[in-house]
Amino acid sequence: MPPYTSASLKAELNSRGWRLTPQREKILHVFQNLPRGDHLSAEELHQVLEERGEAISLSTIYRSVKLMSRMGILRELELAEGHKHYELNQPYPHHHHHLVCIQCNKTLEFKNDSILKHSLKQTEKEGFQLIDCQLTVMAVCPEAVRMGWPSALPSNWACTRVVAERLQEEEKKEDS
Ligand SMILES: [Zn+2]
Ligand SMILES: [Zn+2]
Repeated sequence: MPPYTSASLKAELNSRGWRLTPQREKILHVFQNLPRGDHLSAEELHQVLEERGEAISLSTIYRSVKLMSRMGILRELELAEGHKHYELNQPYPHHHHHLVCIQCNKTLEFKNDSILKHSLKQTEKEGFQLIDCQLTVMAVCPEAVRMGWPSALPSNWACTRVVAERLQEEEKKEDS
């Protein structure tokens, strides 16, 4: 099954008595065009939409992503960053899990068919319907370990990759 298109999502929503409102369609569009491996919080999604001139309130976004997660269209992820992140809930073979560095929040995706197969077996055994299966592995990245994690690192330390991204973002903001 390919990832959702607007048309297939519309059919899915209608079959459950929900509508694909223009807001939900815009939100879906952002996630469909997100670079692979990226995850957005509701606040980040709000910012992306705002930059495109789409005025959708943060509270509408919170409600929409919750609803779309309950329907299995988005995945609600508990990564290390304190607030929830979202991505498309893509069916097999795009299905994946996450490896998260608890120090710098670097998140890597990995695939594992046996976890999904086992979950599916268990779900069917109980007569349930599988919506999503997530494994989040909390870890510490090699760079943090090299820098003397945990005792030698301040709690707000981030690896050079994260710092570079932050600087880039700040520059982008200053330019616009
Ligand atoms: Zn992911
Ligand atoms: Zn790290």
